[in-house]
Amino acid sequence: MRCLFCDRPIESYSLASLFLKTDELCPKCRRRLSLKRKKIPLGGFEVKTFFSYDGFFRDLLLQYKECHDEALKDVFLYGLKEYLELRYHGYHLLCIPSTGKKLEERGFDHLKEMFRLVQLKKICCLKMKEEITQEGKDLRERRKMETNYAYIGPDVDKILIADDVMTTGSTLKGAFSAVKCHAKMVKVISLAYKNITLHL
Ligand SMILES: [Zn+2]
Repeated sequence: MRCLFCDRPIESYSLASLFLKTDELCPKCRRRLSLKRKKIPLGGFEVKTFFSYDGFFRDLLLQYKECHDEALKDVFLYGLKEYLELRYHGYHLLCIPSTGKKLEERGFDHLKEMFRLVQLKKICCLKMKEEITQEGKDLRERRKMETNYAYIGPDVDKILIADDVMTTGSTLKGAFSAVKCHAKMVKVISLAYKNITLHL
């Protein structure tokens, strides 16, 4: 078997791979994707993140999302999936939706695919009011996302909102405010956190 990222043959396995599913990254790449748990307060709620958006996470994510390398879908939650299942047992998992344009470009829903093996009930009840892509947008434009989501599903007890990268937090704020009246408990996670200086 070869590493899905660097293509080197995988000859040794980590301890974790003895009892988890075999890792599709080689130990060298896996070490570069080290867990850095953080809790980031975001105006009334908290976002739990697991990786910093540094060189390697970014390279891996770009390879997956923008070069449409769908095979990488399971490498991000390797070793984290079990933690999420325990920690958020009883929650409904709600992934931030992509725009129709992005879905069409990629041919797959990158976030849903990343979380597909997580054994939590999934709901897809978040809709964008206006299809806005955030790339290259300034802070003022990004802020539009804070009021750009609507929840169109049934009320449930607990919802876990999940995204891949948090930058300004506008998307997660928008999702949280759309969801908060429809569940007794809402938690938010983002796999990675991009540390940027905000000019407020
Ligand atoms: Zn590798």
